[in-house]
Amino acid sequence: MADREVDFLLIGGGMASAHCAAELRKRGSDGSVLLVGREPEPPYERPPVSKEYLRGESERADAYVNPPSWYEENGVELLTGRNVMSLDTEARTAKIQGGEEVGFGKALIATGAMVNILRVEGAENEGIHYLRAFGNSDAIRADAEAAEHVVLIGGSYIGTEVAASLSAQGTRCSIVAMEDVALSRTFGADAGGWFQSLIESKGVSFHGGEELEAFEGDGRVGAIVTKSGLSIECDAVVVGAGVRADAMLAQRAGLEVDDGIVCDSKLQTSVAGIYAAGDCCSYDSVVHGRRLRVEHWDVAMQQGIHAAGNMLGEDRDYDVVPYFFSDLADWASLEYVGPARDWDEEVWRGDRDGGEFSVWYLKDGRVAGALSVGRSEDLAQARRMLADGVDVSAAREAIADAGSDLSSIG
Ligand SMILES: Cc1cc2nc3c(=O)[nH]c(=O)nc-3n(C[C@H](O)[C@H](O)[C@H](O)COP(=O)(O)OP(=O)(O)OC[C@H]3O[C@@H](n4cnc5c(N)ncnc54)[C@H](O)[C@@H]3O)c2cc1C
Repeated sequence: MADREVDFLLIGGGMASAHCAAELRKRGSDGSVLLVGREPEPPYERPPVSKEYLRGESERADAYVNPPSWYEENGVELLTGRNVMSLDTEARTAKIQGGEEVGFGKALIATGAMVNILRVEGAENEGIHYLRAFGNSDAIRADAEAAEHVVLIGGSYIGTEVAASLSAQGTRCSIVAMEDVALSRTFGADAGGWFQSLIESKGVSFHGGEELEAFEGDGRVGAIVTKSGLSIECDAVVVGAGVRADAMLAQRAGLEVDDGIVCDSKLQTSVAGIYAAGDCCSYDSVVHGRRLRVEHWDVAMQQGIHAAGNMLGEDRDYDVVPYFFSDLADWASLEYVGPARDWDEEVWRGDRDGGEFSVWYLKDGRVAGALSVGRSEDLAQARRMLADGVDVSAAREAIADAGSDLSSIG
C-alpha cells in the first residue's frame, strides 16, 4: 500500500518536468502533481551555466523555468534535493529518497543526462572539472579567476562555449579535441572551420586530432598529455566529453532502454501511462523515420509540453523538428535544426566572411539539417522543408542565392 497517491508524478527536476507541470495546469488539469528532483534548486535552464552564469553576468534565479512561488500558487508539489529511488511499473508506485512510497496515475521520466567521465591516469587531481550544474559552473569560475591557462578537453559545444566564456574574460584557453576541426562532428569540417577560425582569432588555441592520455599533477592538475605526446601546462581543466542519457531508474524498473529510454512516437515508454521526455528520451521520430535522442534545451521543453498533452489523453505524435542554439561569448551565435546524421552535400547561403550565413545539409536531395549564423529566417524555411520532406534537388541554386525567396521552394 502506497503512503499516498498522486495523479501525475514527474521524475527529474529539469526543463522537461517543469514544462510538463506548467502545461498540465495551462490545460486546466486540476489533478495532483508531484515533481521530484535531485538537485537543491527548482528546475532551471542549463544553457546559462556555460555562458552568462559562468561569466558572472546572471544569477541562478534568472535561469529558473518557473519562479519558485509558481509551484505553490499552482498546486504543484515540488520536492527538491530528493531522488526517486525506484519505480514499480506494475503496482504504479515510486519510492522517494527518505522512504515515502507514492502511487501514481501517470508518470513522466525526465531524468536528463550524465556527463562522460574520463578515467585516465591522473584523473584524481584537483582542478579537473565537468559541467552540468550551477555548482560546477561556480567551481570553474573560481578556478579560472586564479588561472593563467585553462585547457578544455573536447571540441564540441561545451569545450567551445566555455573557452569563449573564459577567454572573453581574459583567461588564456586551449582546446584539445579528438576531432580535427572544432564543432565538425555536427556541422562538418567547413562550417566547423569557420567557428574554429573565429575562436582562434580571439586567442583560443585549438589542438585537433589529439586523444587525452593522462592528467599530470601533484594533487592538483598541472598539465595534460595526449597519446601523440603533446603536453600542455595548465592550472585547470574543463572536460566536455559528451553526455549519456540517465536511464538508470528506468532500466532498473524494467522499462525498455537503448541509448535512452525507448519511447514510441507519442513519447510513451514500454509501459502504458509512463512517458519520457528530454535528454533521456529515445523516441520514434515521425519526422526522421528513425529513433532519435537529442540533448537540446528546446527539445526538453517541447517534449515536456507534449507529454503533458498526451498524459491528459491527447494521444498525438511528437513531430517537432529538433532545434539547438549555442553562443560563443558575444562573438557569434549559432542555431541549428536537424539533426543530420549524415549528408552528401552542403549548400552555403549568405555572407560567410561577414558572419551572416546558413549552411544546408542535404541528403538524397532533401534537407537533413541546417545551420544558421545570423540568418534565423533561413532556419524557419529549412525546418519546414525538413518536416515536409521537400525534394530540393532542383533548388540548390535558389538556396545558394541569398536574395532568393525560400518560401517558394516546395
Ligand atoms: C552547461 C550546459 C549548457 C547547455 N547549453 C545548451 C544550449 O546552449 N543550447 C541547447 O539547446 N542546449 C543546451 N544544453 C542542453 C540542455 O540544457 C539540456 O538538453 C536540457 O537541460 C535537458 O533537460 P532535461 O529536463 O531532459 O534534463 P536535465 O535538465 O538534466 O534535468 C534532469 C534532472 O533530473 C535529475 N534526476 C536524475 N535522476 C533522478 C532521480 N532518480 N530522481 C530525481 N531526480 C533525478 C537530475 O539530477 C537533473 O537535475 C546545455 C547543457 C549544459 C549542461
